[in-house]
Amino acid sequence: MNEMEERRGRKIIMFPLPFPGHFNPMIELAGIFHHRGFSVTILHTSYNSPDPSRHPHFTFRTIHHNNEGEEEDQDPLSRSKASGMDLMALIRQLKQSYTEPFRQSLAAEVSGGETVCCLVSDAIWGRSTKVAAEEAGVGRVVLRTGGAASFCAFAAFPLLRDKGYFPIQDSRLDDLVIELPPLKVKDLPVIETNDPEELYRIINDMVDGAKSSSGVIWNTFEDLERFQLMDLSDNFQVPFFPIGPFHKHSEDLPSTKNNKEDYAITSWLDKQDPKSVVYVSFGSLAAIEEKEFLQIAWGLRNSEQPFLWVVRPGLVRGNEWLEALPSGFVENIGHMGKFVKWANQLNVLAHPAVGAFWTHCGWNSTLESICEGVPMICTPCFTDQLVNTRYIVDVWQVGIMLERSKMDKNEIEQVVRSAMIDKGDAMRERCMALKERADICLRKDGSSSNNLDKLVTHVLSFDSNAFAS
Ligand code: UDP
Repeated sequence: MNEMEERRGRKIIMFPLPFPGHFNPMIELAGIFHHRGFSVTILHTSYNSPDPSRHPHFTFRTIHHNNEGEEEDQDPLSRSKASGMDLMALIRQLKQSYTEPFRQSLAAEVSGGETVCCLVSDAIWGRSTKVAAEEAGVGRVVLRTGGAASFCAFAAFPLLRDKGYFPIQDSRLDDLVIELPPLKVKDLPVIETNDPEELYRIINDMVDGAKSSSGVIWNTFEDLERFQLMDLSDNFQVPFFPIGPFHKHSEDLPSTKNNKEDYAITSWLDKQDPKSVVYVSFGSLAAIEEKEFLQIAWGLRNSEQPFLWVVRPGLVRGNEWLEALPSGFVENIGHMGKFVKWANQLNVLAHPAVGAFWTHCGWNSTLESICEGVPMICTPCFTDQLVNTRYIVDVWQVGIMLERSKMDKNEIEQVVRSAMIDKGDAMRERCMALKERADICLRKDGSSSNNLDKLVTHVLSFDSNAFAS
């Protein structure tokens, strides 16, 4: 029996967290498994449910939670959408609402006939997926969608608490964290929340859930985060599979279709000079105040660089979209600036007109920028973005910092010009070198390809019976 035949009828079940920064890499990973001969079933929360028609290779099952269909005030998840609930409270609510329905769905899926190799669950779901997998009698591998450096910081939370780093004190922001160089206190991956204890619980549960898994899949590559992966691996004692960047396993991935807006963006970019455009996006979750939005708008305009700016509905607190801009602002900018609600970011970053990416430094955006050799302007908002920024700026030296607290229009104008003109070439050269390292890791016999082979062997080696409780 050849390898492909052996895998026929072998199913991987995936349980993504329902946010683009988590769902996208999980779907990319699904494509990678599918290309290796596995069938993939995605168990997805009814919250932020995806459109299955966009991913015809996979089977989708929606998991419903208990309060669904109730009036909004009875359903905390639909209430959270309406009120912009704090992210930690939202994650806690997701975990509470879906733990039991997920357990039932997984059990039903496993008893469905086809041999199930394993569950791949997002690390944020934590230990409850271990319990569910054990009950269902399947192995469990965790996908961490963030980088290894930030995970080192998350894994150190109990130590950092003991040493008095938390709660963070303003007087210590610029101090080095001696346990985690080169991080400074202000880079520690926290988030503003009404309930800091909830943050610690979610982080510790994520780390415990990964430690107690049968393996961790990382969307990173060894040449980028070798020492951080080594540190973690010493501490975790479970197999690690750094097989990223996922989105560059291109032959393994289903191609995405462009829509009308994507074509409009490409045609605007086509009219710009090479490396002249600043692409601006703060990801799928971050929100900014109206006064920050206006400073960014004026700063970009005054920099006199063409810009493409993703202003997601919901990005500017209290606003639908662009209505806070002074009247005539968009018209005056004319062809120098384009505002969109969403972009096909992979296509944008790959376009030759893009010269820099002003980003919140979410891990996917960071990797996507590195993989196109595009230097970054870094304005982190919360959690791992703060750690990613320190690495982008000080370790890999492919970006400049533009701290959110210092973000006025003059500072923005100066930093944008510096990224595009003074420091642009040197940063781009270093970024191109990293892009080449990523390409090498993905080639035959590169570390990511070898790790992927090991991962396939690993999941095929799971004997369902071994996991039965
Ligand atoms: N993204 C996109 N178009 C946009 C904004 C974001 O395709 O207009 C994608 C981006 O390519 C990335 C993901 O959404 O894959 C955002 O993930 P990231 O980790 O960068 O940030 P998060 O949204 O989780 O804060």
